[in-house]
Amino acid sequence: MSKAIQAIRGMNDILPIQTSHWQYVEKVLSRILERYGYQQIRLPIVEKTELFARSIGEVTDIVEKEMYTFSDRNGDSLTLRPEGTAGCVRAGIEHGLFYNEIQRLWYIGAMFRHERPQRGRYRQFHQIGAEVYGLAAAEIDAEIILLTARFWQELGLNDLELHINTLGSSAARATYREHLVTYFTEHAEQLDADSQRRLHTNPLRILDSKNPTMQELIQHAPQLLECLDEESTTHFSKLQQLLNHAGVKFIINPRLVRGLDYYNRTVFEWVTTELGAQGTVCAGGRYDGLVEQIGGKSTPAIGFALGLERLVALLEQRNVRMPDFAPHVYLVMVGELAGLEGLRLAEMLRNQLSELKLIMHCGGGSFKSQFKQADKSGARFALILGENEVAQQQVTVKYLREERPQFTVNISELVTWLQSVI
Ligand code: ATP
Ligand code: MG
Repeated sequence: MSKAIQAIRGMNDILPIQTSHWQYVEKVLSRILERYGYQQIRLPIVEKTELFARSIGEVTDIVEKEMYTFSDRNGDSLTLRPEGTAGCVRAGIEHGLFYNEIQRLWYIGAMFRHERPQRGRYRQFHQIGAEVYGLAAAEIDAEIILLTARFWQELGLNDLELHINTLGSSAARATYREHLVTYFTEHAEQLDADSQRRLHTNPLRILDSKNPTMQELIQHAPQLLECLDEESTTHFSKLQQLLNHAGVKFIINPRLVRGLDYYNRTVFEWVTTELGAQGTVCAGGRYDGLVEQIGGKSTPAIGFALGLERLVALLEQRNVRMPDFAPHVYLVMVGELAGLEGLRLAEMLRNQLSELKLIMHCGGGSFKSQFKQADKSGARFALILGENEVAQQQVTVKYLREERPQFTVNISELVTWLQSVI
């Protein structure tokens, strides 16, 4: 036998035992997005490399070292999307979605980053995200945050912490950048290799370093709040007022700069302490300059993305009750006539009971071997159709998870009986 081929490191199969959890989370979140008036957009997984270089920023972890970039057969440089915002902005410009229109959009899908795989950090991972275009006021920042707060509430996660910060205008960031360069240059001997490189290319990124030995230095760095422009300060106060009024607790975290270059003003993260170092479940912010930067007309924008692997892991770790796939019924059929009748019965039940999960036995075999399959399926009960049952127009019901005597039900009463038990 030849050696079996394995999946690519950091790219996971999501097996049937887990998919019910994923589907549950996706259903809850997409429903909430729809209730807030967000419409789904579906975008290609591959884009021109230039799109990400221009939007995410040349001197970011993602563009410098994490992208899956390749030449296609025409020699064009393409990249597997590392995030969803760039593609969304590209599509919006291309299809004129931003002209005098407000757009509330959401997406779901796989993203790709060549990172070091560890718990909560993979090379193919999945995000649900939303983007809003055409609204500049702080109300929409608050709406986005309230919407994400509702995610956790409906999933039964009550202790995620909300961190917010403001990055101000680009002019404010330019002043801040100078303060940072001065500060980090004074402490150059404490900078790790990455930070030394960034000192002159993108010093704000140093604040986003995950290196534990850098944290002390970062703690004492000058704060952006000190250089803020007046409009951004007003915007940030308004957001805080709205959040306070809506009863949302938050922490102002002046170190929060986010890992991508395009953000301005509001940035936020929802964080848990329960997933080790990979504690950020959801992150987002305003990016008013990006649409113009990649060729559209100036359009205010804000969005967020959440990591589904981290969210599902958190729910599983907390033992949050999520529906599983267990079928209600396994249909056992013995004998040729029962096989014919059974198929018809199964379809009749599926017609009548749209919620019913029924597995029909296939391939014949003895009662004993069919019960084995029935048991393995996880079904709550077996419906048995043998020669006698067909003749009497009945089925025998056998509970598979409880000690109960078996009994018969007339086929004419079967739908009513099933309705009362599923
Ligand atoms: P981190 O600081 O954890 O690297 P990031 O700032 O790179 O995150 P974003 O690009 O803002 O993350 O992505 C939003 C969310 O997507 C993250 O908060 C996280 O939940 C998830 N995410 C990001 N990268 C990965 C990954 N490699 N594997 C799994 N989930 C990820
Ligand atoms: Mg990252």
